[in-house]
Amino acid sequence: MDTSEQQYEVIVIGGGAAGLTAGLFVARQGYSVLLISKEFGGQTFTTDEIENYPGIGRITGPALMQAFVYQAREAGVTMEHAMVQSIHKEESGHAVTTPKGEFHCRALIVAHGKSPRHLGVEREAEFFNDIAYGVPHDTVLLKGKNIAVVGGANSAMQAIIALNGIAKNIYGIVRAENYRGEAPLLKKIAQCTNFTPHFSSTLTAFTGEPRQLEGIAIVNTDGTETSLDVDYIIGAMGLETNVTFLSDLVALDDKKQVIIDNQCQTSAEGIFACGDATTSPYKQIVISAGEGAKAGLTAARYIAAKEGTPMVIDWGYRG
Ligand SMILES: Cc1cc2nc3c(=O)[nH]c(=O)nc-3n(C[C@H](O)[C@H](O)[C@H](O)COP(=O)(O)OP(=O)(O)OC[C@H]3O[C@@H](n4cnc5c(N)ncnc54)[C@H](O)[C@@H]3O)c2cc1C
Repeated sequence: MDTSEQQYEVIVIGGGAAGLTAGLFVARQGYSVLLISKEFGGQTFTTDEIENYPGIGRITGPALMQAFVYQAREAGVTMEHAMVQSIHKEESGHAVTTPKGEFHCRALIVAHGKSPRHLGVEREAEFFNDIAYGVPHDTVLLKGKNIAVVGGANSAMQAIIALNGIAKNIYGIVRAENYRGEAPLLKKIAQCTNFTPHFSSTLTAFTGEPRQLEGIAIVNTDGTETSLDVDYIIGAMGLETNVTFLSDLVALDDKKQVIIDNQCQTSAEGIFACGDATTSPYKQIVISAGEGAKAGLTAARYIAAKEGTPMVIDWGYRG
């Protein structure tokens, strides 16, 4: 393989708000940057209604993330659609392995975010076309269906609100005794009409032939079993982070979040991190974007220092 074309100053892993902003800020410092992501837009792409991104007002997730992608591309960020499989240290940086080949960089920014948690019920994989994770943003195909929404927090409530008036019946399957989350969402689900919540309940089994879901079984904490006719399931049980590709390169906390300092530096030289994948608190789009900017600038400063041309940072300080 010709690695000369695959060498970049900086590689960013993850095409969500954090990674796209990190790429933008690196590119604006004049360094070559490759952004590798299994999809572009991240979690934000899965939500229909964003009301807290400053300066924008109300916008859909896909519209906001398309603007992020456009701006990063315009600034000169090269984008590669691929799943990162592993990373290893090299003499002058790191090599990033994907099914599309190996890419090399001097500084690496990890911004792999979080992914929806699976249901963890036997036969789940057999019904892959009848189960979705997160909030559906294209509900047309769900019109008239009986849908179970599994989960008891904000994303479950957002899914129920999105499906209200579209699905025939919506069954909420909630382990707790009630929904917990933001007050406006709690108010909105109380007004949903074709929606029946099942509290203190756990999904235990699917019925139907593979790829043809017919129903589910749920068990209440009092031991009562109930069968529901369901032809589609939405898993909205929160998020988890997959760090297998990181091996043991950087220190993680007990939730597998990358530990960073206030400049987005990790425990490993030349590896920086930002967004939901890190220990930075408050998992929100604006926070991820802000941390992405910080990681991008810190990575650029790292390379500049290596080149013997320290970057001028705040108040004229050179670092
Ligand atoms: C349903 C929902 C609604 C939300 N609503 C709001 C809201 O209204 N306001 C708000 O501020 N926040 C909201 N959030 C939270 C917000 O979306 C996140 O804080 C934000 O997306 C985090 O951005 P990120 O870039 O850190 O990570 P992510 O958005 O998770 O992006 C990570 C990216 O990394 C990629 N990736 C992961 N692993 C690999 C790998 N091995 N190889 C290649 N690529 C990889 C993923 O494909 C993804 O593109 C919501 C989240 C959800 C799920």
